[in-house]
Amino acid sequence: MARLLVCEDDDAIAEPLLRSLARDGHAVDLAVSGEAALSAIAACPPELLILDVGLPGIDGIEVCRVARRSHPALAILMLTARSSELDEVVGLDAGADDYVTKPFQLSVLLARVRALLRREGSGGRLEASGVRVESDARRAWRDGRELELSPKEFDLLALLLGNAGRVLERDRIMHEVWDENWWGSTKTLDVHMGTLRRKLGDPSPITTVRGVGFRFEAE
Ligand code: CA
Repeated sequence: MARLLVCEDDDAIAEPLLRSLARDGHAVDLAVSGEAALSAIAACPPELLILDVGLPGIDGIEVCRVARRSHPALAILMLTARSSELDEVVGLDAGADDYVTKPFQLSVLLARVRALLRREGSGGRLEASGVRVESDARRAWRDGRELELSPKEFDLLALLLGNAGRVLERDRIMHEVWDENWWGSTKTLDVHMGTLRRKLGDPSPITTVRGVGFRFEAE
């Protein structure tokens, strides 16, 4: 099951689409304007955004640009109505991952959604508190800004983010990031944690739990 956000102002399209996606086993939210979509993404980023181009207020093209900046690895599938819209979508710098032209068959759209979600699941992508990690590519971002991390800082961040909301004991972090037979001083952990926090910037998503370890805040 994946968490999806559909941004579509036309009920006649949104309703059957939401029903089909729910039948496919997904948790689906609906936003009926570009503004609503951007707030929903900021509050709780979905795995996939299905985004209509023609929206009242902020249009789908602009929503795509903004969402891309804040969530570089978010999968975006755009719905286009006219060929002029299609040109814009295809020419989009921080492009959509895929697009479907209206009118579309639901079966076609569902197949595209499955393909995008398979790709999404394969990259080892993690995200919380505005921090995104792609384990396969060994890349990380904070609020859309790519971070330059040393290998250990990256491993540390991926471990913490993969356990967002839970406290990780210092020993466990040492064993998983450094060496499973590591029994020495944990000063090196504090040094790396310090540089990682500095690179992540403020507010720090990592909380020190005194006498125990660290917790990456889930939101
Ligand atoms: Ca529309």
